[in-house]
Amino acid sequence: MKKIAVLGAGLTGAAAAASLVRQGHQVTVFDKGRAAGGRMSSKRTEQGYLDMGAQYFTARSEAFTQQVKQWLEAGQVELWRCKTALLSDDEGVISLTASEDKQQRFIGIPSMHSPVTALLQDIPLITGCRVLRLDYQQQGWTLHSDTGQDYSDFDAVLLTLPPVQAQQLLKQSGLPELFRSASDVLEPCWAVAVQAQSIPWGDAIFCQHPQLRFISHQQHKTGRSSCYILHFNAAFSALHLEQSADFWFAKATDILQQELGVQGEIRALVAHRWLYASQRDQVPLPGLLALPERPLWAGGDWSYGGRVENAYLAGLSLAQAVLTYAEQQEGTE
Ligand SMILES: Cc1cc2nc3c(=O)[nH]c(=O)nc-3n(C[C@H](O)[C@H](O)[C@H](O)COP(=O)(O)OP(=O)(O)OC[C@H]3O[C@@H](n4cnc5c(N)ncnc54)[C@H](O)[C@@H]3O)c2cc1C
Repeated sequence: MKKIAVLGAGLTGAAAAASLVRQGHQVTVFDKGRAAGGRMSSKRTEQGYLDMGAQYFTARSEAFTQQVKQWLEAGQVELWRCKTALLSDDEGVISLTASEDKQQRFIGIPSMHSPVTALLQDIPLITGCRVLRLDYQQQGWTLHSDTGQDYSDFDAVLLTLPPVQAQQLLKQSGLPELFRSASDVLEPCWAVAVQAQSIPWGDAIFCQHPQLRFISHQQHKTGRSSCYILHFNAAFSALHLEQSADFWFAKATDILQQELGVQGEIRALVAHRWLYASQRDQVPLPGLLALPERPLWAGGDWSYGGRVENAYLAGLSLAQAVLTYAEQQEGTE
């Protein structure tokens, strides 16, 4: 049995941890956030949960399809019965058209992070703990955290952080850098939640728009209320990265009223900045990364192309890397 530290309690970390525990290893998961979920986190508010990150997920691979089936059976996930639409801007002429497709889209219930929490059930999880530095000695890894507490004697470490954060941690630890250009992998996104009068223009609105990439209406999601979440696209988010929440509420209100004809009061709820949201197009996929001669691997959604499903698959691959390492170790003992 190996003692393994998993850094990051998003879906990658949760899938890796659950898989390793099933194989009889002892796992502790660490996250700087207040709870598990990472970019699948929903914010609890008076209006119910607000999905500020991922809005839904799809399942194409056999492994993830099987996992989604289990979550469906356990009532942790449901099919999102959403009407899809396309918002396009043709040289200033805005149009919104229905764009129905046959894609099955899933959501966590009652919150997006419910399936992540379910995977981590019964696995030691230390939240509110940012790992600042890693030390590798003969007896294993020690993690130094911002709470002042150290955690020692781990046989292996899995980093499931966004590349910039993983690279920073390696640098602060005096370890070799794993990414050629960590800042090129994930792009930012400002997400804005508002309460507005419901109009029948779809629940999942894909945007070909100079500022937006997606609008989601939460009305048909269990556990949420009738709010809108607007995701601004990477270029516009990056251009105004340091702007205040008021700037983003004003932008969201303006688009809803002027371009989409929403009537009545629009109430600002939450604005959240994701510095590392989704995969940049046309950047080579890094796959899983390993430190030379030390038992540390890094992976995440970014390994295989972003998205929830790829986070899950990266988690399984990370667990497999540790299992192979453990078998090799046993062979030499
Ligand atoms: C706005 C937005 C919309 C999206 N929409 C969709 C969608 O509709 N469909 C879809 O499939 N995907 C979507 N995604 C992508 C999806 O959310 C991600 O692919 C997936 O959640 C990534 O999971 P992960 O575990 O790899 O990373 P994360 O969820 O980012 O987990 C990494 C964790 O590491 C923690 N961490 C970082 N540094 C440290 C440290 N030093 N010490 C301890 N912990 C640390 C973080 O707190 C975080 O919890 C969206 C993402 C965003 C942001």
